[in-house]
Amino acid sequence: MFFAILFFYLLSLYVSFIATRTVPAPKTTLGSSVSEFVEERARKHLDAITSFGPRPAGSYANEIQAVNYIVGALQTIKDSAQEDVIIEIDIQRPSGSFNLGFFDGFTSVYRNVTNILVRITPTDSYPPRNTVLVNGHFDSVPGGPGASDDAVSCAVMLEVVRCLAQTRNFRFTHGVVFNFNGAEENVLQASHGFITQHKWAETIRAFVNLEAAGAGPYALISGHPGGVTPGNPRAFAPRHLQIPLTQGQYSSTKSYHC
Ligand SMILES: [Zn+2]
Repeated sequence: MFFAILFFYLLSLYVSFIATRTVPAPKTTLGSSVSEFVEERARKHLDAITSFGPRPAGSYANEIQAVNYIVGALQTIKDSAQEDVIIEIDIQRPSGSFNLGFFDGFTSVYRNVTNILVRITPTDSYPPRNTVLVNGHFDSVPGGPGASDDAVSCAVMLEVVRCLAQTRNFRFTHGVVFNFNGAEENVLQASHGFITQHKWAETIRAFVNLEAAGAGPYALISGHPGGVTPGNPRAFAPRHLQIPLTQGQYSSTKSYHC
């Protein structure tokens, strides 16, 4: 009896070990339909964005090269979109200031940071009264390529935008706003500029922030109970959930807290 229990215990350990470390093979454009998320396309976006080198906010690589690439990719997607969705692209350059309460507290002042916004709305729901926000940042720290933090999220977002735009009769009800955020590493300046100043912020009812959280094998999902609105811009993430990392899932540790 003892050995039977031990056997099943070891078997369950083995199965869970395999299950959490096995991911499906990446999809390629060959043999995939337009409605499928294709890792090959996302990888090309990631390679392109990181090829510009470190992208601190304000640098030529961030404000010109990365912006031109992302806007060009979005325009290509828009040009090939189905007729049952409306796609709008907007480049925001907000300026502002806010207080940060960590360390001993200080004021962050910013000018002309960049948000590249794209909103996808089913034609029947336009203009949308309710939207979901998906955010990722393409700026990096000065000394790194910013691949996992956070160009990979922007690459994933581009491929998700393409899926939504090119899938006929996708049948989602409300709008989706994607924010390709150009000033996160200086501590959330572009996020503040969007949520306090952009006209689409009023419609946001929920958000997903895609952010680096170390390497696998687990994805980390953070959640918070309150909605993020211009009236409640500083909700923070008190809960974390670790799930096995499979293809198409990403890490997130920071909520969109400005
Ligand atoms: Zn980041």
